[in-house]
Amino acid sequence: DNPLVETMGLKKYFNTPKGNLHAVDGIDIKIQKGSTLGVVGESGCGKSTLGRAILRLLEPTDGKILFEGKNIVNYSRKEMIEMRKQMQIIFQDPYASLNPRMTVSEIIAEPIKVCKTITNKTEIDNKIFELMETVGLAERFVNTYPHELDGGRRQRIGIARALVLDPKFIVCDEPVSALDVSIQAQILNLMMDLQESRDLTYMFITHDLSVVKHISNEIMVMYMGKCVEKASSDELFSNP
Ligand code: ADP
Ligand code: ADP
Repeated sequence: DNPLVETMGLKKYFNTPKGNLHAVDGIDIKIQKGSTLGVVGESGCGKSTLGRAILRLLEPTDGKILFEGKNIVNYSRKEMIEMRKQMQIIFQDPYASLNPRMTVSEIIAEPIKVCKTITNKTEIDNKIFELMETVGLAERFVNTYPHELDGGRRQRIGIARALVLDPKFIVCDEPVSALDVSIQAQILNLMMDLQESRDLTYMFITHDLSVVKHISNEIMVMYMGKCVEKASSDELFSNP
C-alpha cells in the first residue's frame, strides 16, 4: 500500500443561477504509486472537475487531497507552484481551438520558464529536443505552430509539455478522445511506455470505457459527482 495521491471526501460545488451544483460530491480515491486509476462516466458527471480539483486548478469546496501523504488543500499559491512540478495535466486537445501564437518549442518550454527549473538557454533547448524525441515528435516541427499539425502530433506536444518538469503524477483528461482510432492506440501505447520508463502515476479520465480497459489498474465509475462503482480492471471486465 503506497498511495501517491489520495482524496478524502473531496467536494467541488459550483454556484449557478439554478443553485448549488454538486459537480464533485464526496470522492475518496487512492492511487498507488506507478499505477493508473481510470475515471469513467457520462459527460457532465464531474470527471474533469475532479481532476482539476485534485491539482487545485479549481479550489475544492471541502475534503482532503493528500500527495505523498501531505494534505495540499491549504497550500498557498506559492507552495502550489512548487507542487505543480510534481503534478501535471494533459487535455483533450488544448491547441485546436486556442490557436496560440506559440511554437512547439515555446509551448514545451513554458513550464520551465514559469518554474525557472532551468535558466541556461542551451540546456533548455537540449531538454526540448530530448523530450520531442521521447514523445516521437520529429525535430523539424520545433518551430511550427500546433494548429499546423494533426491531432496526434498536437497531443504529443501536450505530453512533452506535461513531462518537462519531470512530474510524478499526471491527470490525463480525455487525452485520446479527439483522435482517430488508429492514432488513439499510438498515443495510449506512448503513455503506457512513459509510465513504465518514468515511473508515472496516472489518473485517466474518459467517457469511453474501452479506452481505459488496458491502461488502468483500477477503474472508478462516476455518476452525478459520486463514485457509483470501483473495481479492478479485471473485475470490471470479467464475464461471470
Ligand atoms: P465531465 O468531465 O464528467 O464531463 P465536468 O466535470 O466537466 O464533467 O462537469 C460536471 C458538472 O459541473 C457539469 O454539470 C458541468 O456543467 C458543471 N460545471 C463544470 N465546470 C463548471 C463551472 N466552472 N461553473 C459551473 N458549472 C460547472
Ligand atoms: P471538459 O469536460 O473537457 O472540461 P467542458 O466543455 O465541460 O470540457 O468545459 C470546458 C470549460 O468550461 C471548463 O473549464 C469547465 O470548468 C467550464 N464549464 C463547464 N461547464 C460549465 C458551466 N455550466 N458553467 C460554467 N463553466 C462551465
